[in-house]
Amino acid sequence: MALVVQKYGGTSVADIEKIENVARRVIDIKEAGNEVVVVVSAMAGETDRLVNLAHSISEKPDPREYDALVSTGEQVTVSLLSMTLNKMGYKAKSFSGHQIKIVTDQSHTKARILSVNTEMITDELEKGTIAVVAGFQGIDMENNITTLGRGGSDTTAVALAAALQAEICEIYTDVDGVYTTDPSLCPKAKKLKKISYDEMLEMTSAGAKVLHPRSVELAKKYEVPVHVRSSFNKDEGTLVTKEDEEMEKVVVSGVTYDRDQAKVTVIHVPDKPGIAARLFTPLSDQNIVVDMIIQNASIENYTDMTFTVPRKDIDDVRKILKIAAKDMEAERVEFDENISKISIVGVGMKSHAGVASRMFAALANEGINIMMISTSEIKISCVIEAKYTELAVMALHDAFGLEKE
Ligand code: ADP
Ligand code: ASP
Ligand code: MG
Repeated sequence: MALVVQKYGGTSVADIEKIENVARRVIDIKEAGNEVVVVVSAMAGETDRLVNLAHSISEKPDPREYDALVSTGEQVTVSLLSMTLNKMGYKAKSFSGHQIKIVTDQSHTKARILSVNTEMITDELEKGTIAVVAGFQGIDMENNITTLGRGGSDTTAVALAAALQAEICEIYTDVDGVYTTDPSLCPKAKKLKKISYDEMLEMTSAGAKVLHPRSVELAKKYEVPVHVRSSFNKDEGTLVTKEDEEMEKVVVSGVTYDRDQAKVTVIHVPDKPGIAARLFTPLSDQNIVVDMIIQNASIENYTDMTFTVPRKDIDDVRKILKIAAKDMEAERVEFDENISKISIVGVGMKSHAGVASRMFAALANEGINIMMISTSEIKISCVIEAKYTELAVMALHDAFGLEKE
């Protein structure tokens, strides 16, 4: 008997009919002789509705109350799915994050899971019950409800799969796997049979929203095989797994875009030891993730620093930098929210030359200007003007021949 963790996203539980479809799939796995833990998201659109409600009261709602509110969407779907399974003749029990003690840190709205207590779930599984767990939520050490960030139910599922040593974590969504690029943007996108943890991690952190980045980090750390597939058909999806030789033969596996970043430039900063720390420490103290960073060559002991931050954090960044820039005697700070980050990802880059120049040439051919560049061993990212996002994705998808077998 194997233990399988399945996660169903918002579109898969959007109405009662779809929840019945999910219940039938869960029952199939159970009937095949497995123990099943199901993680569900809120019904499609529900989390957005709750977020909007919170923002109709305040531009910056209290984070504790915000989490208490937006976590309720998942509470609805766990009970509806359990009731449906009961009606179909199966024992099922719903659990919220605090009932099974998914303990997180205290960063409301983007909390990280610290530990998971599996006792209640294993007790139920032993009795033959299907455990249905609310995704996206946890509690901190002081019993406050926390949420894991948008898309965080994937992370709940992988964390449970790791803690329960599940054979597989299946992520059911509205696409039938991980594609070479977002299929909703590029019709030529092709489904990948498998992808390495590192590539998937780079793709999600570069904006591919098919998985929550933290879920891939956990999957890699605990070697949980993750199968991304559709809840609307029986096709094999994409396996996220350890790197193998075959994967290295492919130079570029995917193209991603991230429209949720903003560019910040601190202009004319005295170039002396400690300025980078003085600039970035107050941002990290507020849990603001700084991504690409460029420091210009210094001219007459002054320099400019440019970096990107999540656009949702821009108001906080403005406040923090107002103080930091004054403290550092910088001339001024400029913000550009009209940008997008385009990335190419592939483990094959490690052993192939000329990948970056091919990327730059493809963008240049379309007349797209590159504002910032950053590279890692298996990723190259460029910041461009937001209006060129689709064009850049298509051009790079063509340039690296991703539509071909
Ligand atoms: P769920 O609600 O099931 O968690 P999400 O909307 O979070 O689903 O994730 C699925 C979506 O991710 C797809 O509909 C697709 O538009 C988007 N996506 C972005 N990049 C990719 C990619 N490379 N492969 C597959 N889907 C992608
Ligand atoms: N319901 C949450 C969201 O919409 C979490 C998730 O779906 O993974 O972001
Ligand atoms: Mg998702």
